[in-house]
Amino acid sequence: MNPDFELTITELVKRFSPEVTIGPISFEVKEGEFFSLLGPSGCGKTTMLRCIAGFETPTDGSISLRGERLNERPAHRRDVGLVFQNYALFPHLTVFENVAFGLRLRRAPKGEVHERVGQMLELVGLPDLAQRNPAQLSGGQQQRIAIARSLVLEPRLLLFDEPLSNLDLKLRVQMRWELRNLQRKLGKTSIYVTHDQTEALALSDRIAVLSQGRIEQIGTPMEIYEAPRTAFVADFIGSSNILEAIVGAPSDQAVPIRTERGMNLRVRACIQSAGTRVKVLMRPEKFHLVDGDAVADAAENRLASCIEDMTYLGEDVHLRVVTTDAEPLLVSLKSGRDTRSLKPGDTVKLAISPDDVHVLRE
Ligand code: ATP
Repeated sequence: MNPDFELTITELVKRFSPEVTIGPISFEVKEGEFFSLLGPSGCGKTTMLRCIAGFETPTDGSISLRGERLNERPAHRRDVGLVFQNYALFPHLTVFENVAFGLRLRRAPKGEVHERVGQMLELVGLPDLAQRNPAQLSGGQQQRIAIARSLVLEPRLLLFDEPLSNLDLKLRVQMRWELRNLQRKLGKTSIYVTHDQTEALALSDRIAVLSQGRIEQIGTPMEIYEAPRTAFVADFIGSSNILEAIVGAPSDQAVPIRTERGMNLRVRACIQSAGTRVKVLMRPEKFHLVDGDAVADAAENRLASCIEDMTYLGEDVHLRVVTTDAEPLLVSLKSGRDTRSLKPGDTVKLAISPDDVHVLRE
């Protein structure tokens, strides 16, 4: 238990049955950090959150807040605020009374309740809705009230369980900004559970990617996206081209690799030795078109390819291409003058830097 961290999870295990075990999982969260648990349905993220909140008893391992063990402490004494997907507001209470609920349970003086509820409604931008019932609010407004209700108790830790997933896309994006701004303003240590990779990338200081009850990788959004360690992380975060390949002998500043279908690529960073079988990742948006007549840039990988299919998406154009080595690739280009005349059946020359061809560590 390291008191330098706000929250320390050590070798936490929750065994529901011999077949369903989550963990062991370990991670630390710093004070004021926005930390997300990201993974597909059933990977165990809600179970982890429930263990931290005190609604689930871990089978093994420890949870500590500021160096103090929480395992044996009941949920209501853990100093954590929870915001759920379904808002969980009390339908028979006004907005004001929903936010005031926890303060009243603590027998806070009337004046203090009024002042703090007022401040919270101001903070979430809904000071005029105090006398409404939850049924008279939109989804976004209900979620803001749920956040205010958690914040009013000034918890040490805020836990969010997919809080935006019931909102439509536009509102979800707006609430994402609001939530991030609010969290930055208050500096509350937050743990956020989501299966939405875009949401995790947009909101988090760091992300733990979970798969089948285990952590695959912990890192900043940029680390997770740009340098995924495993094929699972690469595939889960964004779209990707993942190819099987064999590492060649390094020369000058790059390492040659050869894919199973015989495509030769150069990569900048590769810790595996020559002859090792690896997986390589190329993000679709890292390719760019090169003019057939342009002088070849020796540092780049050049791939002659045939367009099989293309989708125009306004800002971007997505291509499915096949290289001359019969390697199928997904390519995303910014739409513009170069892409306007492209059509299926065309041959194009694509380039990708060795910096953007990642050898996965797994
Ligand atoms: P989702 O995004 O669908 O909520 P999740 O990643 O949050 O998924 P959990 O809800 O933590 O996943 O569930 C992880 C695994 O544990 C699943 O296989 C689930 O069926 C199982 N599980 C969760 N709660 C229980 C329980 N009370 N009894 C038995 N198994 C459970």
